Amino acid sequence: MFQNPQEFLNYVKEKNIQIIDLKFIDMPGIWQHLSVYQNQIDESSFTEGVPFDGSSIRGWKAINESDMAMVLDPTTAWIDPFMAEPTLSVVCSIVEPRTGEPYSRDPRTIAQKAVDYLISTGIGDTVFIGPEAEFFIFDDVRFDQNQHEGYYHVDSIEGRWNSGKKEEGGNLGYKPRYKEGYFPVAPTDTSQDMRTEMLLTMAKCGVPIEKHHHEVASGGQCELGFRFETLIKAADSLMTYKYVIKNVARKYGKTVTFMPKPVFNDNGSGMHTHQSIWKDGQPLFAGDKYAGLSQMALHYIGGLLKHAPALLALTNPTTNSYKRLVPGFEAPVNLAYSQGNRSASIRIPLSGTNPKAKRLEFRCPDATSNPYLAFAAMLCAGLDGIKNQIDPGPSLDVDIYDLSPEELSKIPSTPGSLDAALEALEHDHAFLTEPGVFTEDFINTWISYKLDNEVNPMRLRPHPYEFALYYDC
Ligand code: GLU
Ligand code: MG
Ligand code: MG
Repeated sequence: MFQNPQEFLNYVKEKNIQIIDLKFIDMPGIWQHLSVYQNQIDESSFTEGVPFDGSSIRGWKAINESDMAMVLDPTTAWIDPFMAEPTLSVVCSIVEPRTGEPYSRDPRTIAQKAVDYLISTGIGDTVFIGPEAEFFIFDDVRFDQNQHEGYYHVDSIEGRWNSGKKEEGGNLGYKPRYKEGYFPVAPTDTSQDMRTEMLLTMAKCGVPIEKHHHEVASGGQCELGFRFETLIKAADSLMTYKYVIKNVARKYGKTVTFMPKPVFNDNGSGMHTHQSIWKDGQPLFAGDKYAGLSQMALHYIGGLLKHAPALLALTNPTTNSYKRLVPGFEAPVNLAYSQGNRSASIRIPLSGTNPKAKRLEFRCPDATSNPYLAFAAMLCAGLDGIKNQIDPGPSLDVDIYDLSPEELSKIPSTPGSLDAALEALEHDHAFLTEPGVFTEDFINTWISYKLDNEVNPMRLRPHPYEFALYYDC
């Protein structure tokens, strides 16, 4: 919204904006915020930052060294559409207050380092990222927060023909059939108005909107689309996307989840990520190789595929992520690339003759990832491929789901669980740390955070389905 701090400060003064909402991202990827009165913001807020206590932020500092500061990025400001009083929202990066150094565990700082690294290699000066985050809208979700009993219950906004559940208010018919949510018109599509409001609201927050539609799963799965942007802008927009979608749904009395696999035996939600590298305003991924790609793009693919098992610890970082990466639901399972083939983990979309549209789509990521970390890590893997001229091998132009078990066994697969991905990351992270983008401290913190807070707590709890399997033993 503003080009520089002065424009920001002038706006606050002219419009008498009393409340400024400072937003930043924690390590797992949730926006945190602190609202300050207008007199707390001045020129120094954009250099030294606004001090706060970082000790309770997940994955950050210990209580004995908790002082941190948020540095405002004036280009990310917008009037928050969900607050009663005019409130100027702004995204911040984190610095150490004593030294002014960027904080090495701040995901937005890591993303900046990835972009700086790209420029330092001389390979390119810009990476464009286009994420497509899918999600479900539910009427009702109940779960025991402490998960002592592992109980959960989800009510779809659409119900199912075959659910056997008596719906309140009566079943009015026109329910999307199994896997046919993509994409009949109303009255089968019941969330059109909500999605339109989501899309138009995010435009007011500076997101370059393009489209919205229902998705394949019949339980209220949807997707909105925005135009590709440079890496940090794309991550900022993805956070705005999630914030707006969740809050508009709340206004309608609904709830949204970006969990990759909320419903058993139906399509899950991915965050396919389109990417391309540019230099001096010229696209570098278009060429005369396979599918109209350049040699550089093929090496980038080689890097993504080689590091995929470790990369997924950042792009698919939850235990639920691996319930999506199974055959039969349009999610990628095998580490291969192909033109137009949606069963491969890298797809080269048909993009016409314009070289500027040439890009690749990495289909593994999901929106439980922290976008700053996920985009930074994908760029590092791709750059490693370019620098070391990693050959991606032959393309796979058959439907992978149709291959025989013998043919299939020759193609490497995505890791089967979060622990497997974390183990891969433990052994393969030089592509992230050697360029100085991620620190060893960050990688170790990430692995132990995920093991202690997600993998092990999941492993220790009896699962509801175990009651069906074993109760009568
Ligand atoms: N929902 C699918 C996934 O889990 C993708 C469907 C699509 O291609 O849009 O990746
Ligand atoms: Mg989709
Ligand atoms: Mg896609």
